[in-house]
Amino acid sequence: TQEREILTWQDFGDSMRNLAQEIANSGWMPDVVVALARGGLLPAGALAYALGIKAMGTMNIEFYTDISETLPDPILIPPLMDLSALRGKRVLIVDDVADSGKTLKLVSDIIQTKGLPSGTHGVDGQYVQVDEVRTACIFVKSRSVIVPDYVCKHTDLWINFPWSDKPPVTADN
Ligand code: 5GP
Repeated sequence: TQEREILTWQDFGDSMRNLAQEIANSGWMPDVVVALARGGLLPAGALAYALGIKAMGTMNIEFYTDISETLPDPILIPPLMDLSALRGKRVLIVDDVADSGKTLKLVSDIIQTKGLPSGTHGVDGQYVQVDEVRTACIFVKSRSVIVPDYVCKHTDLWINFPWSDKPPVTADN
């Protein structure tokens, strides 16, 4: 088995507080926090609390099917958030890690420039003019095609996150 990068719940809490401080210090405060489900949900929630932001949305992306096993490209899967809520807003996209960076790139492209790919879940070319999109992650890997605007940690190992390091529970009665 390969060496892993282990993130504990404590590390997670500390990291998100640090990341929020970095964002506050940058002088840019988002209006809306968008979590990339599922890996970005806990980081995005922790960040939104630490920044005092209540407006949150979720984009659901599927890419990794297993450790180092991916679909050809990340894809947007339902349920789809209403992107019109982002018009004119400062949007912070949050994920657990930018590994290839393709997931973050897909979502920031969708939100900023391209609108939804034609035919995506029946929404054709829905396009919104946001004020600005920035990205935040706990980890970035050196091969990432995107450098997140805000990031805490660098690694090139496979990361074990505390919310996904065990298999789902099954009934024990
Ligand atoms: P990317 O599109 O940047 O290659 O990765 C997208 C998603 O794949 C991440 O948000 C995360 O959910 C998953 N992923 C990528 N690298 C890792 C890793 O090292 N550990 C875990 N647990 N998930 C990863």
